[in-house]
This record gives sequence, C-alpha cells and structure tokens, in this order.
Amino acid sequence: SIHHLEYPSSPASMDWSTHFPTFFTPPTAPGEGSPSLKGKKVEFADVGCGFGGLSISLAPLFPETLMLGLEIRVQVTQYVSDKIRALRLNPGSVDPDNAADVEAGVAPEGAEKRPRGIKPALMPSEGYAYGNVSVLRANAMKFLPNFFEKGQLSKIFFLFPDPHFKARKHKARIISPTLLAEYAYVLRPGGLLYTITDVPDLHIWMTSHLASFPLFARLTEEEIDNLGYESGEGVEGVESGELSRERERAVMEAVKRRTEEGKKVERNEGGKEWSVWRRLPDP
Ligand code: SAM
Repeated sequence: SIHHLEYPSSPASMDWSTHFPTFFTPPTAPGEGSPSLKGKKVEFADVGCGFGGLSISLAPLFPETLMLGLEIRVQVTQYVSDKIRALRLNPGSVDPDNAADVEAGVAPEGAEKRPRGIKPALMPSEGYAYGNVSVLRANAMKFLPNFFEKGQLSKIFFLFPDPHFKARKHKARIISPTLLAEYAYVLRPGGLLYTITDVPDLHIWMTSHLASFPLFARLTEEEIDNLGYESGEGVEGVESGELSRERERAVMEAVKRRTEEGKKVERNEGGKEWSVWRRLPDP
C-alpha cells in the first residue's frame, strides 16, 4: 500500500537522525544506524500518541531525554510532525496549545509561552528548541523490539487507548499478555509504565492483565506522589530529589491533563482512572 509501514531490522540499524538531528548524525552507509552524538537513546515512548500533547509538554521538562510518540494514523502523525517542526523553528513564540499558532509558526501578542500547568522554574534555559521530541508512524502492536533495545526505555505511556468495546475486538486492545512481554522487554528494570482511561471496563482490563504479569508491580497513590524523591531516581541521573520529584509530578499532571483526549474528557467532566507500574528486575 502507499501507506506502507517500514521497520528497521534491529534497533542498531534505525536511522534516528531524521527524528533528532541535534542528537544523531546520518548513517554513513545504507542499512546502518545513525551514530549518536551525545550517547543518548529514546527513553520515553508515548504509545498511540494521537495529537502528541503528552510528549510535546514533557519535552521542555526533560531537555536531555529523547522522547517519541508512536502513532498509526497517517494524518495524525503528520500533524504532530508539523507541530514539532513549527516549535523547533520558533520555540519561544509558538503556544503548543494553540493550533493556529502552530500553523502560523507564531503566537499572537500575549500568548502563553509555556505549556500550561508547568512551573516556569522547571522550564529549561534559553536555547531550548524541542530537539528531543519526535513522532514516528508505526503500529506499536508490532515490531516494538525492532525500534528499541532491551531495557532502553525508562517510561512507556498508554494514555486513553482505543477501548475496542466489543468482546470479539478485545484482541485489538493495546494491552494483552503477549504485548506486555514486549513492553517489559523494552522497558528497563525500575522503569515505569503508565495507563489512563475514561472507560471503566478498559481500566479493569488493563490493570488485571498488568497485575497478573510477573514483571510489573503497581504503585500506590502514595508511591506515585513520592516518585522521584529518592536521589538519582530522576531520569536524567542523579539530581536533587526535590527537582526530580517536581518533574515526576509534572509527568502525572501531563498524563491526566495534557493529552488531547485527556482534555476532552476534562471538558465533558468525565471520570478518569489511571495506574502506574514499575518494571521489576528480571528474576
Ligand atoms: N494518547 C492520545 C491522547 O491521550 O490524546 C490519543 C488517544 S486516541 C483515543 C488513541 C490513539 O491510538 C489514536 O490516535 C490511534 O490512532 C492510536 N493507535 C491505535 N492503535 C495503535 C497502534 N497499534 N499503534 C499506534 N497507534 C495506535
């Protein structure tokens, strides 16, 4: 088909330079991977990212962490890609919340210059340019280990996934025992898996499959609240407990309120149920 999806034969042969040109140089020979300039790899994966609200709002918070949205719909992926391009060209002047700004590449007078709900103290210094966020058109239910090495990811997000209500469609759900084995493979021990949905039945489905999978342990609300508090828990390595805790709290805020679907549920005053799981060490 014209919308043929391409997969690298292994993570080492993936060309990331088109996604993150400030972090990778183009491959030197066909079929080879892109040399990494700063030794960084993608660490956050936003599965079924839709319009990209999560990754785009987290990018400035973790300027040294590479994050990638995975989206199967062609036009939606293109939209996110255009939005990131506009933000890269004009980082200070585009309000990522405002579609018109993004299209024009400029914000109107007085527009908010940072993602809402994120403290200015957490925003990076001048010169930040959204180089650490990208989007990839892919079927995340297939070939994830072709893109990511074992233990490469520190966070994987499943935010408001498609519910597939009918029983005969349940196999199309993005969380299943087989797929959990893949997610556990690409997520490092200690890494975190996030789910959120406004569909109670899907919440039960996801949490019961995760609970019966031996490599994931659910965090209590208190543990979620204290995430990042231990020094060194921050994704960027050792940093002050307070800062990494602040960031982890901003991540939860983004999970609940920064995606387009999350905002829609909020507008309709719908309920949301979330869960956070820690990837346990291999036995
Ligand atoms: N996470 C976003 C949010 O919270 O706004 C989007 C939620 S939307 C209800 C679900 C998204 O998952 C859709 O954009 C859909 O195209 C995408 N999707 C569904 N199956 C997928 C798959 N196998 N691989 C990648 N994306 C998928």
